[in-house]
Amino acid sequence: MAGKQRFLVRFWGVRGSYPTPGPHTLRHGGNTSCVEIQVGSHTLILDAGSGIIQLGQDLMQQAVQQDTLDLALFITHGHGDHLVGFPFFAPLFDARTNLHLFGPELAGHNIEQLVTSLMSPPYFPVDVRTLPSHRTYHTLTGTQCICWQPDNKNPFIKQQVSSPNNPNEVRITTCMTQTHPLDGALIYCIEYAGRRLVYATDVEWSNGQEADFLALSQGADLLIHDAQYTQHDYEHIKHGFGHSTVEMATEAARAAHVHELILFHHEPTYDDDQLDRMEEAARKRFAHTRSAYEGLEIDLLQKK
Ligand SMILES: [Zn+2]
Ligand SMILES: [Zn+2]
Repeated sequence: MAGKQRFLVRFWGVRGSYPTPGPHTLRHGGNTSCVEIQVGSHTLILDAGSGIIQLGQDLMQQAVQQDTLDLALFITHGHGDHLVGFPFFAPLFDARTNLHLFGPELAGHNIEQLVTSLMSPPYFPVDVRTLPSHRTYHTLTGTQCICWQPDNKNPFIKQQVSSPNNPNEVRITTCMTQTHPLDGALIYCIEYAGRRLVYATDVEWSNGQEADFLALSQGADLLIHDAQYTQHDYEHIKHGFGHSTVEMATEAARAAHVHELILFHHEPTYDDDQLDRMEEAARKRFAHTRSAYEGLEIDLLQKK
């Protein structure tokens, strides 16, 4: 497994707040946040919105001939649009699954408590603690570094961020934004083979970008960034809701000198045509911008 060189990003859910199926969202998709990263020999998943349900089915189909299914899930925060798909994630119900689950401590609850309360009675008929899969929970508390060495299935977590020891090491560094009410959200940076991806959803840069975010994302190859609102809607209704405008996303991309920006966490009341207009407006501010849609794939080792 050490020889597998890949850094592939797939979008399974790109919507914010709540799922929006229907004819007006067909091109971008209506599922909430979920991004799959195939990196080295590892399968990493960012958030467990409703998009993770279809991803789970896909992973199970690919695993038909496998003895084990090793996965790592990174949760940004506890809001429903980032967790709603978790109880329906098929690998949880399979004994071959070995899942490392990472997430923040919020309102005094660690990530195991946050997930277990969601997937146990009275909120859900099946108790996650009774499932045959093997689950290991890791509560993250701010700026940390999670690493996988090329030949090791298990990660190790360092409290200090250091340079990679090995170009084939998969390295995830984190920081916490305080701009998302009430308890903040984790921002993740994934690094492999000299390429870096930053996942910064549920952030609101009303007073400019936070220094920790800029340090984490400086020079990244790909920035997946919250761009929920138009400037008009932000100013009139949505200020302080914890999400960015297209202008905030493009400013962040410029300030961090990233190579490409992906607009993410789309407002559920915006249809495909509205998202197209926002993408066009964003490109005038930051040329290398795309609007995320379900099924979008990006190969980071092919870029540049
Ligand atoms: Zn959200
Ligand atoms: Zn949120």
